[in-house]
Amino acid sequence: MARIHNPNRGRRRRPVLALHSLRVLAIAGILLIALAEAPVAQNPPYDLLLRNGRIIDGSGSPWYRGDVALKGDTIVRIAPSIEGPATRVIDVAGQVISPGFIDIHTHARRGIFVVPTADNYVRQGVTTLIEGPDGGSPVPLKPFLARLEALPRSVNMGSFIGQGSVRSAVIGEVNRQATSDELDKMRALVEQGMKDGAFGLSTGLFYVPGTFTPTAEVIELARVAGRFGGIHISHMRDEASGVIDSVKETIAIGEQGGLPTQVTHHKIIGPANWGRSVDTLRLIDEARMRGVDATIDQYPYTASSTSIQAALLPAWAQEGGRDATLKRLKDPATRAKIKTESVRIIRNERGGGDPKNIVIASCGWDPSLAGKNLAEVTRIRKMEPTVENAAETALWIVEQGGCSGIFHAINEADLERILRHPATMIGSDGEIPVFGKDHPHPRSYGTFARVLAVYVRERKTITLEEAVRKMSSFPAARLGLLDRGVLRPGMKADLAVFDPARVRDAATFEQPHQYAEGYSFVVVNGQVVFERGAMTAARPGKVLVKR
Ligand SMILES: [Zn+2]
Repeated sequence: MARIHNPNRGRRRRPVLALHSLRVLAIAGILLIALAEAPVAQNPPYDLLLRNGRIIDGSGSPWYRGDVALKGDTIVRIAPSIEGPATRVIDVAGQVISPGFIDIHTHARRGIFVVPTADNYVRQGVTTLIEGPDGGSPVPLKPFLARLEALPRSVNMGSFIGQGSVRSAVIGEVNRQATSDELDKMRALVEQGMKDGAFGLSTGLFYVPGTFTPTAEVIELARVAGRFGGIHISHMRDEASGVIDSVKETIAIGEQGGLPTQVTHHKIIGPANWGRSVDTLRLIDEARMRGVDATIDQYPYTASSTSIQAALLPAWAQEGGRDATLKRLKDPATRAKIKTESVRIIRNERGGGDPKNIVIASCGWDPSLAGKNLAEVTRIRKMEPTVENAAETALWIVEQGGCSGIFHAINEADLERILRHPATMIGSDGEIPVFGKDHPHPRSYGTFARVLAVYVRERKTITLEEAVRKMSSFPAARLGLLDRGVLRPGMKADLAVFDPARVRDAATFEQPHQYAEGYSFVVVNGQVVFERGAMTAARPGKVLVKR
C-alpha cells in the first residue's frame, strides 16, 4: 500500500538552510543534543500503533480510515497515515477501531474479586464498569474503592452511591417515613459517597427498601448528589402497569433535585403493558424539551433478571428482612394473600402469563435447579404447572433460601423503539460470572456484541456509528468522564478493535457461558488486555472517581 509522505522529515531539515542565523544555530544545537540523548531507534515516539483501521471515534460521525498511535496511557496521534516508529505496530485492516465501551450499569463488585480479568466484559470490548446501581452500593464507598484499587484488574471501575443501601443503613428495611434526624444522616452518607468519588445517586425504587421511600425523600438526597455534580440513575418503582407514573417520577427527581436523571435498563414488563414505550419515550422527549436532562439506558434482551423474591413477591411481604418474610409465609391467611399477588405477577407481569417464562439462574441451596423453568420446578414438586401452583413453588423457593431468576416478559417492538431513541445508551445490568457456573442471563457475556450483531448488522435498527456512540461517548459524557469515550489525541487509550462483519454475541439463554466473538484487540489505558482470542497478563484497570 502506498504511504503518504511524512511531512515531519521535511520540517526538520528546514533550519539547516538558514544557518547564518544564531537563533537557528542554537535551535539546531538543542535539536542535536536532543537527538543524541534520545536515539529514535531506542525510544520510539509511540508505544503502540494501530494501522489501517476504520475509525469510529465515538461521536456518532461516520467512520474514516486511519492510524491511531498511543504513548503511555494516552492516544497521542490519529492521522490517515502515521509512519512511526513504534514499539509495536499492528495492522488492523478491515477492522473497526472504537473507544472501549463504558458500561454504566453493572453488578460486578463481587465477581471482579473472583475474576479480575472480567473476561466476559473485556471480550465484548468493555473497558469500564460502573457499579452501585439499583439503589445498592457499599456504604461507605471508600473502603470498597480502596480494595478495588489494591486489586490488579483488566478494566476501569467506578461506582454510584445507592439510596436503598443508605436508607437501609439509617432506617432499616421498614416501610415508614424518615424523621428529620434520619434524613440528615442519609444526606450526610450521600455527601460522603460523593466525596469518596461516586458518580451520583442510584435508586432502586422497585426493591426493598427503596420502594418504601417517598419521592420527596429521594429528591432531598438527589439534591445532595447534584451539588457535587452527580447524576441520578433509577431502577424505577414499577416497570409494568405503573411504568408511566414511574417515568414521571424519575423525571421529577431530576427536575426537582436539580441534577441529570436516567431511567436505567428501560423496559416494559408484561404483555398487558407492551407498547407503552411510545408514551414513556414521549415523556422523556417532553422533559428534554423543557430543559430536564433526562436519559435512558437499556440492555438488548427481551428477558430481565433479578431475585425470585424481589420479582414475584409483593414488596409489603418483604418488609423487615428475611425473617419477617418467612414469618408472614408461615401464617396461612397472610400466605394466601401473598400467593394471590404472586399469581397476578406471574399472569400479568414478570411471568408473562406462563411459568415457563421464568427460569432459575442460580440457587445456592440447590445448584441443580439452575436452568430449569418454574413449570419444571413445579413438576419436580409433583404438582401440575398451573399459574397457582407455580406461585406456590415461588413461595417455597423463597422459604428454601431464594434463587435468582430470568423473566421472559419483554416485547421486541418496545426494545427496538427504546434502542432507536437518541437519548438511550447501552448498559448490561450484568455481572462477572465464573465461566461455566450457574445459569446467568446472557447479557453478562453478550450485551455490547449483541447490539452490534443483531441490532446493527442484522436488523439495521441503528447504525454502527450510533451504536458505538451509545456505548462510549454518551455514557462517558453522562458520567463526566471527559478524558474517555472518544478517540482523539489527549484522551485515555481505551480501545476496542473488532470486525464489523463477524462481531456477535454467542451467549444464549440456553447456553449463557459463551464469550462474544469478532474482537481482535482490547486496550485499557494504553495496554493490550485482550489479543486474538486470549487475555494478556496486563492489569492496567484504574479506579475512576467523579471529579
Ligand atoms: Zn435493576
